[in-house]
Amino acid sequence: MKSLKNLSNKDLLNQLRRLVQKERDFTLEILRHLIEVERRGLHLEKAYSTLTEYCIHELGYGESSAWRRVRAARVIGKISEVYNLMKEGRLTFSAVVQIAPVLNAQNKKSLLPRVEGKAKKDIDAILAAFQPPQVIADQARPRVVKRHVSVESAPADADASDAGERKSAPELGEISLHSEGENNPTVKNSTPEIEVVLEKMYEIRFAADEELMELIRWMKSHLSHKFPKGASFLEIFKYAMKYYKDREDLATNKPARSAKTKPKTDTRHIPKAVQKKVWKRDGGRCAFIGSNGKRCNSQHNLQFDHYPIPFARGGPSTVGNLRLLCAKHNRYTAEQLYGDEHIRKHFIKETPVGYLIREQTRRAFARGAA
Ligand SMILES: [Zn+2]
Repeated sequence: MKSLKNLSNKDLLNQLRRLVQKERDFTLEILRHLIEVERRGLHLEKAYSTLTEYCIHELGYGESSAWRRVRAARVIGKISEVYNLMKEGRLTFSAVVQIAPVLNAQNKKSLLPRVEGKAKKDIDAILAAFQPPQVIADQARPRVVKRHVSVESAPADADASDAGERKSAPELGEISLHSEGENNPTVKNSTPEIEVVLEKMYEIRFAADEELMELIRWMKSHLSHKFPKGASFLEIFKYAMKYYKDREDLATNKPARSAKTKPKTDTRHIPKAVQKKVWKRDGGRCAFIGSNGKRCNSQHNLQFDHYPIPFARGGPSTVGNLRLLCAKHNRYTAEQLYGDEHIRKHFIKETPVGYLIREQTRRAFARGAA
């Protein structure tokens, strides 16, 4: 490595400036390449369900670096002005990552000039004015709830730690304050007929819109005969979901009337037992394998896919002809199979590998059909 010690101060600073410009140009080029990779779906073809995952495992970025690059790349892909501002050094990479969730085609004209050359905390303040009203994120938090339960009065000399003595309450809670011989003054000293049980519950939070509130109000009045004191949210949601589940169970267990007239392969229905076997065999993970031999393994949004013979070409719903795919790979393979026009436009021209896979799959079908 060449020593910098002999450089004059002026040269050192000039050189540094040039390097920073180069770094900026490099970053921009990387971002442009990422956009193109995503547009062609090449990360999917390599069995990564997200571009970020591809950046981590194939390009060696750290998680945060990968995430930031993907985020910035998408901004540039959508709003070309950002590219020019970055190129001219008027907008830093960090600033682009920071404004990404707020910036859109509608506010770009007013937002971009305001954040140019600004520091992080100044941008935060500017973004606050542009941000949509805060959304309450879905949340389910485990909670231990205390519950007072009346019990038959127990004999005074009963050993409190004996599980046999707690017969009266266990259906209401998993843990009693009596357990492990713990001393409970409420029970032992003053009111032996009241037992405090701890119950594991969940505090669920989400933002309900007016339509849901209207439905809840309707359910409350509709269920008033069942819950004369007024149904709680817990009771309403449980009732509605159980109702739905019972209906679904009934529909799937009922022998289909058309089953006699139609051959089995005509239905998309996959028997529960088959589903279970496929799920177990694929380990509850996406079984897509890329041209590089890598398996996706995503656990997100899994769906059953008819493979190697697709459903539309008479593929049966059997364990041997089904696999688990994440939603992204399910859509990707469907596009490969059915979206010839789409593929010609977006895929084949650019990637011979994609074409090869399609050809191989096509041949597999031909073999399956023969
Ligand atoms: Zn996948």
